[in-house]
Amino acid sequence: PIVLGIESSCDETGAALVRDGRLLGQALASSMDEHARYGGVVPEIASRAHLHAIGPVVRAALADAGLRLADVGAVAVTTGPGLSGALQVGVAAAKSYAYTLGVPLYGVHHLAGHVAADTLEHGPLPNPCMVLIVSGGHTSLLLVRDVARDPIAHLGDTLDDAAGECFDKAARLLGLPYPGGPAIDRAARDGDPSAVAFPRPLTGPRDAPYAFSFSGLKTAVARHTEARGGAVAVGDAAASLQEAVADVLTRKAVAACREYGVRALVVVGGVAANSRVRSLAAERCAAAGVELRVPPPRLCTDNGAMIAAVGDLLVRAGAPAAPLDVCVDPSAPLEYAALCPVAAGR
Ligand code: ATP
Ligand code: MG
Ligand code: FE
Repeated sequence: PIVLGIESSCDETGAALVRDGRLLGQALASSMDEHARYGGVVPEIASRAHLHAIGPVVRAALADAGLRLADVGAVAVTTGPGLSGALQVGVAAAKSYAYTLGVPLYGVHHLAGHVAADTLEHGPLPNPCMVLIVSGGHTSLLLVRDVARDPIAHLGDTLDDAAGECFDKAARLLGLPYPGGPAIDRAARDGDPSAVAFPRPLTGPRDAPYAFSFSGLKTAVARHTEARGGAVAVGDAAASLQEAVADVLTRKAVAACREYGVRALVVVGGVAANSRVRSLAAERCAAAGVELRVPPPRLCTDNGAMIAAVGDLLVRAGAPAAPLDVCVDPSAPLEYAALCPVAAGR
């Protein structure tokens, strides 16, 4: 069947159509500009923007695919994690489409969406594969087998800030525009990555090998800017911070591949769009003989295609559909790709 995927967990309203691992069409709206003056996503503004965008975005995705609503054979929607009110809009819309079309509804974990996004570009995921999820709210190293069927093993997570959050907060300290990650990436182009010796948190011999910590880096950027008053070389600071984050992320991810004997690393989530994360991951994977898969930047940040991709995998795995009274779960832990109800065999 053709799966309609809907994403509304944060500030992006996304819809897409996927069948048999192929993206047929998609559309995306963002309320990012409305949040810029507040320096971060304002939940009420995001919810209202989703409400305005959801219908038009679904219609635009169908038009992009050259399909009609009646062609949709299943609906998949992000039920968590994310902002409660934002999730509610997508879930309510998905229920309405599923009910009126008489097709099954699937509740999808947002992070499983980030993982599955890569399949739309590079085909089925290797089993097993190591997954580094680096986004605005999460930083985790996962051991993934069959993403639609098997439990997902967490080797390590961030103990405090996510990598994307570190970029966003540091950008603010450096006077760069919102959102910070892309701004740091741009500013770093004219900077020297060895100009500032920022720390490499949790990389000592006695540290947890796969845990991450980024709040100290943000503090280091704050101290660096305070010490220099108004005279910070922004390009150098951005490049040095980006180098520190990329170094820690890729070092731990490749070490995990080695320790677990896994031959493929998949890097996903918004920070996987970062140019230095991509280039350093490529260098280190090549040196370690590990296959690297990173989706193109437009599939790294939030979108509807990644949710449709999970729905497509769940349908083909014969996973049970969700009931029409399925609830949002704003802090859903990542154990299975399918949320509510339990996946087959759980
Ligand atoms: P989560 O997926 O954890 O719920 P989210 O959905 O808000 O959080 P994503 O959309 O996956 O996060 O990613 C957004 C994050 O990615 C932001 O922190 C943003 O700054 C960061 N980001 C986007 N592009 C880049 C880039 N080129 N370099 C660094 N960071 C980037
Ligand atoms: Mg976003
Ligand atoms: Fe996300």
